[in-house]
Amino acid sequence: MMELRHNPITDEWIIISSETQKRPVLPQKEACPLCPGVLEMKHDYDLTAFDNRYPALRLDPPEISRSDSVFENAPSYGKCEVIMFTSDHNSSLSRMPIGQIEKLVYVWEDRTRDLMKHEKIKYIFPFENRGKEVGASQIHPHGQLYAFPFIPKRIQSMIDAIGKYKGCAICDVIKAEEGTENIIYDGEHFIALVPYFARFPYEVHVYSRRHISFFTEMTNSEKFDLAVALKVVTSKYDSLFDNEFPYMMEIFQSPVNPTMKNFHFHIEFNPPKRDKVNVKWMASVETGTWAFINPLTPSDAAKSLKKASYTI
Ligand SMILES: [Zn+2]
Ligand SMILES: [Zn+2]
Repeated sequence: MMELRHNPITDEWIIISSETQKRPVLPQKEACPLCPGVLEMKHDYDLTAFDNRYPALRLDPPEISRSDSVFENAPSYGKCEVIMFTSDHNSSLSRMPIGQIEKLVYVWEDRTRDLMKHEKIKYIFPFENRGKEVGASQIHPHGQLYAFPFIPKRIQSMIDAIGKYKGCAICDVIKAEEGTENIIYDGEHFIALVPYFARFPYEVHVYSRRHISFFTEMTNSEKFDLAVALKVVTSKYDSLFDNEFPYMMEIFQSPVNPTMKNFHFHIEFNPPKRDKVNVKWMASVETGTWAFINPLTPSDAAKSLKKASYTI
């Protein structure tokens, strides 16, 4: 079963995709399907993107039976891609050379430019789930990308907030935080900080200093600085508790078809760990009401992250 179903109670689209149940979960290293020459990539590779073998959305979705009831459904149009960060099974964003992360930024840009050409695509969302705590099914360093045929609910709330806010909230946050202790990375073009309003313990946001909406608007030196920012944040995460720190990395660009000039490019790191061993789960309050209880004061998280060592 593969289709989109509309929930009239919350006015949101749900992706029904029973195919994704078939994906393999955390096999042994020798069976890693993402290593060069194994399953997905028959040849050696450096950094590459390919279609997810178990997509929830596809450019040629199966036909759906139109319901004539009160319920609304739609074909699962869109795209799900896997983006391999490196052929090195034991690497990670936190350990990759800056040049490799820079190449990854170019791949994100390329995939954005390509997918926005499809008129029915409305939102392009690259992300990384790192660690079993956030459901990563493979440890080989990789991210994914979903190209949605609708505006997902939280993106709609960002759009609504932009409509209500006078000016640009992210430009204002950068101005307000400049020179404070909440800054984790203070680069020429990008800034990383623990936001005043963090939802997760150790949440970090990465903002472009310039008000841009897409990867495709970044200069080469902005792309380089973004690579450095990502390396600093992720290597600090790993040294925080001296382990492979799990996180969700979500990249927010403007919607496409149509685009929004007033949308400010940003990246959120949402790590689930509240300390070295305990996880802050998305439980009833968070899932049911979308209200978050953060057990760690953001300024305290910033202090720990500032102290944590990093590598470039
Ligand atoms: Zn591998
Ligand atoms: Zn802005």
